[in-house]
Amino acid sequence: MLRPLQGVTMSEAIESLLKENRRFEPPTDFARQARVSSREAYDAMYRESLDDPDTFWRRETSALVFRTPWTKVLEWNLPHARWFLGATLNVTESCLDRHLSTATATKTALLWEGEDGSTRTVTYAELHEKTVRLAGALKQLGVQKGDRVAIYMGMVPEVSVAMLACARIGAVHTVVFGGFSADALRDRIHDSQAKVVITQDGASRRGQVVPLKATVDKALSQPEAKSATHTIVYRHLGSERCRIDMKEGRDAWWDDVLASAPASCEPEIVDAEHPLFILYTSGSTGKPKGVLHTTGGYLAGAHVTSKYVFDLREDDIYWCTADVGWVTGHSYLVYGPLSNGATCFMYEGAPNYPDWARFWRMIEQHKITILYTAPTAIRACMRQGDTWPAKHDLSSLRLLGTVGEPINPEAWVWYHQTIGGGRCPIVDTWWQTETGSIMMATLPGAVAAKPGSTGLPFFGVAPDVVTQEGDPVGANQGGLLVLRKPWPSMFRTLWQDDERFRQGYFSTIKDCYFTGDGARRDEDGYMWVVGRIDDVLNVAGHRIGTAEIESALVSHPAVAEAAAVGRPDDIKGTALVVFVSLRPGSTAGPELRDKLAEHVAKEIGRFARPDLIRFTDALPKTRSGKIMRRLLKDVASGRESTGDTSTLEDLGVLAKLRQDQE
Ligand code: ATP
Ligand code: MG
Repeated sequence: MLRPLQGVTMSEAIESLLKENRRFEPPTDFARQARVSSREAYDAMYRESLDDPDTFWRRETSALVFRTPWTKVLEWNLPHARWFLGATLNVTESCLDRHLSTATATKTALLWEGEDGSTRTVTYAELHEKTVRLAGALKQLGVQKGDRVAIYMGMVPEVSVAMLACARIGAVHTVVFGGFSADALRDRIHDSQAKVVITQDGASRRGQVVPLKATVDKALSQPEAKSATHTIVYRHLGSERCRIDMKEGRDAWWDDVLASAPASCEPEIVDAEHPLFILYTSGSTGKPKGVLHTTGGYLAGAHVTSKYVFDLREDDIYWCTADVGWVTGHSYLVYGPLSNGATCFMYEGAPNYPDWARFWRMIEQHKITILYTAPTAIRACMRQGDTWPAKHDLSSLRLLGTVGEPINPEAWVWYHQTIGGGRCPIVDTWWQTETGSIMMATLPGAVAAKPGSTGLPFFGVAPDVVTQEGDPVGANQGGLLVLRKPWPSMFRTLWQDDERFRQGYFSTIKDCYFTGDGARRDEDGYMWVVGRIDDVLNVAGHRIGTAEIESALVSHPAVAEAAAVGRPDDIKGTALVVFVSLRPGSTAGPELRDKLAEHVAKEIGRFARPDLIRFTDALPKTRSGKIMRRLLKDVASGRESTGDTSTLEDLGVLAKLRQDQE
C-alpha cells in the first residue's frame, strides 16, 4: 500500500548529493538510423504528444487494428481516465491476425530455449493457430467475455498463447508468477474470482522441477479458490520428469482441449476500455495490489514504446529476460513486441544454470540483438567477474535496456563496457505495473545516456518533481515523482478496490498521479530516481534517497550490491545502516568496513558515513528481483516483520540476517 507519507514534513526537499557526471553520447552509427535521431526531433514529437494527443496517437497507432476508430481521444475525470472513446478492437488482431497476410506470417514470433538446452521456434502463423484453438477451448469450458482466467505457468511459448487466447475471447487474464506458493496463488484466484486456471505439469529451474500443477492442486483444494472449477494443463516436462495427478471433471490436458476445439475462433470485438488483464504488483512496499489494465490504451502504450524505446527492427532478435509473471513480461515479451511483428527470444531457466556464462552463450548462439534486463541481474553477473562474458562473442548486441530499480552507475558502466562492448546504447526505462508501459527512458539514438538516470519522459508522459504541497521543485532538487497528465496505458483502477486506487495514488498530491518514488530532475531535464519515498532516509537533518548511498557503495571495487536503511537512534534521530554483499575475492572485516565508510563519506559527505555496515551473502528481494528495504528496516531495528512477505524470494535470507544479528 502506498502509505500517505508518514512523519515527513515535505516542504523539506530530498537532497541529492551523489554527483554522477559521466555522459555517453549516442553512437554515431546508431543515431544515423534511429527513429528519433536528435534531441530536437524528440522535443518536437514530445510537444505534439502533449499538445495534440489525438493527432499523435492516431498516427502512432496506425499499424494497429481498430475495428472502429475513436471519436474522442481522452476523457479525464480525475482519477478516472478513458482513452480512445468509441473505439473497438481485439488486441490479438494487432498482435497476430494483421501479420498473417504479410511475410511476417512465416517469421519466428518466439524463439525459445529450455533450461536443458532444447530449442523451439514458433512462427506468427503457428502462434495464431494455437491461440485461436485455445480461445475456442476456453469458450467450450464456458469462459465468457469479462470472466477471469488465472495463468500459472513457467517460461514456455504456451504462456503467451494462454494470454492471447484470453484476450481473443475478451476474458481477463491474471498471470501469477510461477515461483509463487500455493497460498499466494490461492489469494490471487480468490481476489480475481478466476474461473479457470491454465498451468503446466512443471518447469525447470536450476535443474530441478518446479511442480506447477501440484501447486495448483494445493491452491484449488482450499475453499477460497472455489471459483476456479477447471484447469487446462500443458504437458511440458512429461511424466518421466514430473508426475502429476489429474482430477476427473476438473483438469484437462492442453493437447486434448486443443484437439477438440474448433480451428477458428472469431475475435471478440470489445470496447477500448474493456479490461484486458489484472496483474498484482511486486510487493516491494507492502501487500500486492491488483492492477487493472484495459484494451485500447494499454495496447497503444505497449506498442509505441516497444517500437521507439527498443528501436525494434525487422531483423532484430529481441530478448526481454523478465518473467511473464511481471508487467515487464506482459508489455515487453508479449503485447509490445508481437504487435510490432518482432522476433522474441524466451528462456525458461535460471541465469546461472549450469554456470554464469548461460546468458552470454545464448546471446552468441541465437545472435540476440537487443537485451532488456534488470539491475539485479546485471549486478549478479558483474559480481561473477568478466571471465564469463569474455568466453562469448557478444557482437550481435546493438541495444541494451534496464528496468526495475535504479541502476547503480558502476553497474551501468559494466553493462555498457563488458556486455555492450562500449558500442550499444543503454536505455534505462522507468515505469511501474500501474503505468502499463515505459514512462521515461534514455531514448536510444536521440539523446545521450547518463549512468543512473532514466532520461526523459516518453511521448505523452508529463512527470514532475514536487513537494508534498504539490509545488514543483527546482532543477537538481529532490522531491516526489508525480505524473501530471493521464496516459493511454495507465491502470484504470485496482481490482474491486477503487477506494484504494483513489487513496493510494491520487490523494497525496492534488490532481496528480503519485508514483511512490522520489526523484530529482537535472538541468537537462533528465530524471534520476533516488528511491522509494517510504525509504527516504533522514540522516543528521539531510533527507536522502537510498539509491545514492547504495550507488556510492557499489562504486567501491569490493562491493557487489548494497541496501541502505534507517534505524531509530536516540541521539541522531536516524542511524544509517547498510547491508553489503561483496564481490568474490574481497574479505569482510573491520578493515574493509572502515574503508567503505570512508568511501561513502568521500562520495557523498561526512554526514552520510554509515553508522553500521553489515556484510551479508545475499539481500532479501522480491521475486521480481527488487531489494526489499522495508524488511531490512525491521532487521536493522530488531523488530519482527509484520508486513506482507508473500512476495519475498527467499525467506532464508531474512532468517539468516536475523540470526547473524543475535
Ligand atoms: P509494490 O508497488 O507492490 O511495492 P513494486 O513497486 O516493486 O511493488 P513494480 O510495479 O514491479 O512493483 O515496480 C515499479 C517500481 O520499480 C517503481 O515505482 C520504481 O520504484 C522501480 N523502478 C522501475 N524501473 C526503474 C528504473 N528504471 N529506475 C529506477 N527505479 C525503477
Ligand atoms: Mg509500486
